Amino acid sequence: MDHTLDHNTASNRPEELRVSLDELGKALSAAPARGVPKPLFIAVTALAAVLGVLLAWLAFCSWDSAQYEFKLHRQLDEQQAVSSLLQEELDQANAGLAAAQEELARQEAELAQAQDTIDLLKEYSVAAPDGTVPEYTQLYPDFYAPAWEGETIDGGKVCFLTFDDGPSANTDRVLELLDRYGVKATFFVVGTAAAAPANQQRMKNIVAAGHTLAMHSWSHDYKKVYASVESFLEEFSQLYQWIYQVTGTYPSVYRFPGGSINGYDRGVYQEIIAEMTRRGFVYFDWNASAQDATAAPRPASHIAADCLRGVGRDLVVVLGHDSAARGTTVDALPAVIEGYQNAGYTFSALHPGVTPVTFGYPVPK
Ligand SMILES: [Zn+2]
Repeated sequence: MDHTLDHNTASNRPEELRVSLDELGKALSAAPARGVPKPLFIAVTALAAVLGVLLAWLAFCSWDSAQYEFKLHRQLDEQQAVSSLLQEELDQANAGLAAAQEELARQEAELAQAQDTIDLLKEYSVAAPDGTVPEYTQLYPDFYAPAWEGETIDGGKVCFLTFDDGPSANTDRVLELLDRYGVKATFFVVGTAAAAPANQQRMKNIVAAGHTLAMHSWSHDYKKVYASVESFLEEFSQLYQWIYQVTGTYPSVYRFPGGSINGYDRGVYQEIIAEMTRRGFVYFDWNASAQDATAAPRPASHIAADCLRGVGRDLVVVLGHDSAARGTTVDALPAVIEGYQNAGYTFSALHPGVTPVTFGYPVPK
């Protein structure tokens, strides 16, 4: 007996089942002839493969593009950060440049001022041809005018009342009248008068009331004051220090005794003007006068009429005196103030910002 046949399960099945299995086998062996043709199958498979690759490529592309966009954004952010940093540095550099330009302008202004002084020294023949300056420029190193940073007055109907040779008891009356009219004025004091205790208080009163306390030499002795440039400097530096000692304020305005050009200073006035200008001081002569420096006092009405001769011009500097013998000058003051007020003038104290009124040798500014 065939041993394998004993274990053949088919041999044990019913006949009908064996038949249908045979038919199925036949059908199966015939299937390739009736199924999908091979080329089409290959084409579909290839298409599927291509589609698969295409989809994969598209997915890759989209991921890559997102990556690229992200990178681009990051680069843009970085560039913007760099750009704002550069802008900040540029702003800083611009600010530095502006500061440097300002400093340059300041130094140029200083240089121009120094050049003015050099020109002035040359003009008044103070400097030697080799450029050396006189030894008196080294004297009184503390005798320099304080810097002026206030207003400038270079025109207009402005009246400057000035009182020379005080202080005295008349100064009190002048101060009262100025206060009553609300007017500021200038007092060119003399050291010998200013030394008296009562007059020290008057100097303080002048400063406290907002008037200008100015210098008019220590002795008012023409021969002494104009003996030399050195002598002039000694007279004025002494008064300068005294005014500061008494009032706590340094004067920067001065007036020559007898005016800048007089019978005593012809040999020295150019050098004095140059040297005093170099030290920052400003002097004023006058263009209207009370004509009150007379042996006998003049009537107040005559004095007022003379003072008002300045009406019509710009920047009127009126010379008067508040020394002890000049009572009628004080009497004339209300008429003088009202006369200028009625003519449309305002009043001001003199200061370094006022264009100097001088006798014929204007100081270059
Ligand atoms: Zn005088």
